[in-house]
Amino acid sequence: MNRGRAERSISPHPPSSCAALGIMMAQLYFKYGAMGSSKSANALMARFNYEERGQKALMVKPRLDTRDGEHVVTSRIGLTYPCVYFDEMREMTVMELQQNACIIVDEAQFLTREEVMHLVYLVDHLDIPVMCYGLRADFKGELFPGSYALLVMADKIEEVKTICWCGKKATFNARFDEQGKVLKEGEQVVLGANDKYIGLCRRHWMEGNLGPDFGVGVL
Ligand SMILES: [Zn+2]
Repeated sequence: MNRGRAERSISPHPPSSCAALGIMMAQLYFKYGAMGSSKSANALMARFNYEERGQKALMVKPRLDTRDGEHVVTSRIGLTYPCVYFDEMREMTVMELQQNACIIVDEAQFLTREEVMHLVYLVDHLDIPVMCYGLRADFKGELFPGSYALLVMADKIEEVKTICWCGKKATFNARFDEQGKVLKEGEQVVLGANDKYIGLCRRHWMEGNLGPDFGVGVL
């Protein structure tokens, strides 16, 4: 049943002519940003750009992330597109994977290190470019496991920028509850919770200050 899985069916795979020449090798990209930096919209637009050029791109997300619904990547501005879960992608054959000009992973912070290493394998051995979009750090200012691995392993690291309410670049994420109280403790990932997140500059994240629209932040 697993015979078609990528790791197992990789017989001596002839490198593409470009790869053999050492040019246009596939790369692993990590495009990170704070909450509200339109990472999902960027991911969806990247996929559309491939489609416009007549190429397929595979949209993938970790199974953990079902906030937007099953098998779909959704952005706040309303763009949406079907995706497969990471474990489903791993069941695809080499041939199925290589029909795609690129693999695009949304919410990549939720990947495990082992899953990131699988993406490294797809890039280095199947010569498929992989673009990962995700958060860098959690609401406590600590790296997500997927982001940690991607920061170490990626060929190209880019910041997707957004701004704090004060106008400075937002580089941190604050978690707050329904009363607008900033939360500093708790699990990194709480599925089904009603807590919300917002991107803040470092100073306002340190202060727990959500800005005048939220009233005075609470540490
Ligand atoms: Zn600020």
